[in-house]
Amino acid sequence: MAEILILAEHDGETVKKVTTELLTLARRFGEPAVIWTGAGAEAAQARLAEFGAAKVYVAAGPEYDEYVVAPKAELLFELAKQVTPAAVLVPSTAEGREIGGRLAVKTGWGILTDVVGLGDDLNAEQVIFGGAINVSSRVRAGTPIICVRPNAISPEPAAGAAVIEPVSVTISDAAKQARVTEKVVQQRGARPELTEASIVVSGGRGVGSAENMALIEKLADALGAAVGASRAVTDAGWYPHQFQVGQTGKTVSPQLYVAVGISGAIQHRAGMQTSKTIMVVNKDPEAPIFELADFGVVGDLFKVVPQLVEEIDKRTG
Ligand SMILES: Cc1cc2nc3c(=O)[nH]c(=O)nc-3n(C[C@H](O)[C@H](O)[C@H](O)COP(=O)(O)OP(=O)(O)OC[C@H]3O[C@@H](n4cnc5c(N)ncnc54)[C@H](O)[C@@H]3O)c2cc1C
Repeated sequence: MAEILILAEHDGETVKKVTTELLTLARRFGEPAVIWTGAGAEAAQARLAEFGAAKVYVAAGPEYDEYVVAPKAELLFELAKQVTPAAVLVPSTAEGREIGGRLAVKTGWGILTDVVGLGDDLNAEQVIFGGAINVSSRVRAGTPIICVRPNAISPEPAAGAAVIEPVSVTISDAAKQARVTEKVVQQRGARPELTEASIVVSGGRGVGSAENMALIEKLADALGAAVGASRAVTDAGWYPHQFQVGQTGKTVSPQLYVAVGISGAIQHRAGMQTSKTIMVVNKDPEAPIFELADFGVVGDLFKVVPQLVEEIDKRTG
């Protein structure tokens, strides 16, 4: 069976959820082989095995962290030449798309970005125009390079051997032109990371002010959820931009998405419509977000949310 190469996204210790999503997807088309750059592969081996990695190519050199994307693209190019994979999967993040693009230029292979699913024969599904149109596309030149959107696939465990195979590639000077001079680790609170959370509670313009976002945080904390926001909220400066959900924000696909005081504009939907269960609190029964809702409460959020928190607190002790 041909290998499917998967570029792992990780922080040197933890495997990012998107990597487990790519492994789940890859298993359908061949033998998943992870490419791990930098340190931390041994610590991650069990997690990669849990999601079916057959092999883990480890390029442990420091150059992958010291320079921006070019060394990783060279590594992928060299490995792709050696193993002739059936496809190369990378996360459709800013970095993943750039690495995939560079690989496409080096190989002459076709690339598809923002893919949300793969059908038979590696036919890719993409969602465009803020979720209004579904597109089916297929690479016609060479081996498909497919950039898969985080949160588009539900990760499912399946045991794999995750055999570590060290690889050593000489990185050219040309790939070392842009050095990383500083890395600032974002301070994380006690809440789960937005794109990895299984529950997300998002507040919209209906919340009314920055201070009132505390209500959304309270509900999120009662549920052990991450906090999200509509663009109306982030543009107004009521909540930081990094929490924006939607076309120009983060894409989330949690088990439960709670939209509070959000109307459901197409650009917001683009970032949350694949959530498994959607609950809405909105005082306007005609708000378009109700079209997506599995459960909806028509009511004033300032009355509904505190009652919701009280009820959850009672049940969770
Ligand atoms: C190119 C482009 C990209 C964009 N990208 C994004 C994006 O990534 N994410 C995003 O979210 N938006 C995005 N937008 C903006 C988007 O079009 C909407 O303007 C935005 O989503 C509206 O946010 P909202 O639903 O919070 O506000 P509104 O549309 O104003 O809705 C507020 C809702 O709150 C309800 N409400 C008010 N008071 C209460 C109350 N007391 N109790 C209960 N409900 C109440 C109202 O009934 C209403 O439905 C983008 C727009 C463009 C043009």
